[in-house]
Amino acid sequence: MSINDILERALEREPLTREEAYRLYDEAPLQLLCSVADTLRQSAVRDPKVVTWQIDRNVNITNVCKSGCKFCNFHCKPHEEAKAYITTMAEYRQKIDEALRLGADQLLLQGGLHPRLGIEFYEKLFTQIKREYPTLRLNALGAPEVAHIASISGLTTLDTLKRLKAAGLDTLPGAGAEILSEGVRRRISPAKPSARDWVVVMHEAHTLDIPTTATMMYGHVERPHERVDHLITIRDLQAHKPATSRGFTAFIPWVFCPTGTQLEREGIAPRFSATEYLRIIAMSRIVLHNITNIQASWLTVGKEVAEIALRSGANDMGSIMIEENVVSSAGATTRFDRDAMEATIRRAGFTPRLRDQLYNYR
Ligand code: SF4
Repeated sequence: MSINDILERALEREPLTREEAYRLYDEAPLQLLCSVADTLRQSAVRDPKVVTWQIDRNVNITNVCKSGCKFCNFHCKPHEEAKAYITTMAEYRQKIDEALRLGADQLLLQGGLHPRLGIEFYEKLFTQIKREYPTLRLNALGAPEVAHIASISGLTTLDTLKRLKAAGLDTLPGAGAEILSEGVRRRISPAKPSARDWVVVMHEAHTLDIPTTATMMYGHVERPHERVDHLITIRDLQAHKPATSRGFTAFIPWVFCPTGTQLEREGIAPRFSATEYLRIIAMSRIVLHNITNIQASWLTVGKEVAEIALRSGANDMGSIMIEENVVSSAGATTRFDRDAMEATIRRAGFTPRLRDQLYNYR
């Protein structure tokens, strides 16, 4: 089958085989790939002239983490008492009040795998935040945190998700996927719950109709085809969600930022390639025929490349992120406010629309 034949199948929104996806990734001219992805974007979204964005605040529950991922500068070990923190309720109030004044409707809550914070801690935290801010959406934790909380609380991951949902969890971020390959995980985050755990927790979240996103952090130790395998894993997981569940609402690929990380000290310090990023955005739109929203990661690739991504399959610019510590601590420096976000989307030729976590226009 020729490249054009495979692209024809993609344009019919047919699921590509692994071999077909490999061939597109390896051989398709970038411009053609981006053009097909842009056509697919236009037919997938509600209004092809619109690019969505969001205001939320990222608050880290704790920086204590027993995982020690080699790409993460943010965490500290449980014994590093001078650096360790657990965010207090007074700090949440101050951060939430500030975020609400800036127009946020959601709190992104993430943290490390703290060895002593079990299910009761998170139930109390979510319940308290929801009691004080009932309209605020909680986009919290991630599959590795859920697996960790389950493990130290003596629960199944399914029961952990049920209890978190009952306490106020609205949506589950897709963080912690990196590249869904056990071999890659052993090299970059050996103490983190496994790639299989990520897949299981996400499927369980979908069975409980907890909407989630999916992510990919590429550009470290993985082989190029493992990026394609990652996309196929996400696509197949989405295909197995219950028909009534919202499943993955979006896919967000971003590039590994090496500055100051253990991986950099081990000699893994790749140079960023804009063309590779655009190829991945286009492949995401083409392979993930069953996921509506593909997000451009302006934080890690910068505004100019993100703008081109909007013509290569992406339809969303993510959040202005009032506070972000994990990727920023590894060298990502781009910052946006409301005006800059809207100006960037307009410059790319689109109409900006503020959205909520479920991609509804606000
Ligand atoms: S990425 Fe998350 S799980 Fe890994 S060390 Fe950092 S805080 Fe811990």
